[in-house]
Amino acid sequence: PPFMEIRDLNLWYGEKQALIDVNFDLHPGEALAFIGPSGCGKSTALKCLNRMHDDTRDVRITGQLVLDGEDIHHPDVDPPLLRRRFGWVAQKPNPFPSSIWNNVAYGARLHGLMRDKAELEGHVETCLRRAHLWEEVRDDLHRKAGTDLSGGQQQRLCIARALSTQPDVLLMDEPTGSIDPIATAKVEELVLELKESKAIVIITHSMMQARRVADRVAYFHLGRLLEIGPTETMFTNA
Ligand code: ADP
Ligand code: ADP
Repeated sequence: PPFMEIRDLNLWYGEKQALIDVNFDLHPGEALAFIGPSGCGKSTALKCLNRMHDDTRDVRITGQLVLDGEDIHHPDVDPPLLRRRFGWVAQKPNPFPSSIWNNVAYGARLHGLMRDKAELEGHVETCLRRAHLWEEVRDDLHRKAGTDLSGGQQQRLCIARALSTQPDVLLMDEPTGSIDPIATAKVEELVLELKESKAIVIITHSMMQARRVADRVAYFHLGRLLEIGPTETMFTNA
């Protein structure tokens, strides 16, 4: 069964409708790419998945978001619980203005996932290893994340931070949009590895990137999800 089902999703910013009758499923073990022209609703749709619009004024949403059989759009569903199950990676690397350690420890601490300091230490190392950053930072985890790391390292740190809450889904809003090609290749490699144990939704402006990392592609246009399908068939028909 699909892990997540999005049914008849509609979203309005005030009077303006930004999503129209969006339907799709998300399966464990897959990377789904959102593509389409700027302003077509990709980012808006991504934010719906973990109810990031809850705190935004003048937003109205209808439809269903079913996660493991439960409608998480229902107001009774606790947003913090929801946030734990989703990791978010933004376009611009945005580590907390704190140490590498704090960036990665934060999520696990917030949700009380580790029993003690030793377990937390192991967890921080695991997250940094999964983000392929451990070898580069292990000497000193108390360095400042924002100033002592390169842009690409900061983005991998943000991925490690997203892994801290042991999420089932990674939501990546154009994660390579502001890093160089070598750093981009590293992030793409991470997407390919991490999707094995989660579901990943990744926004990209690059068809080449969608081809490299995505199992399926969802093409948005003017707020509608026009087409969704396996990456190969989407690009051979184009
Ligand atoms: P994309 O990610 O595909 O570039 P967005 O989801 O950011 O598109 O935007 C979809 C539409 O919604 C655009 O027309 C955009 O201007 C509008 N929009 C996005 N965020 C807001 C907001 N907070 N308030 C009002 N309109 C918004
Ligand atoms: P490094 O990237 O230098 O190996 P890590 O200690 O962060 O540093 O690696 C943790 C784990 O991630 C490794 O044991 C390995 O399983 C995996 N890993 C690291 N680099 C790669 C890579 N380039 N390709 C595939 N897996 C890798």
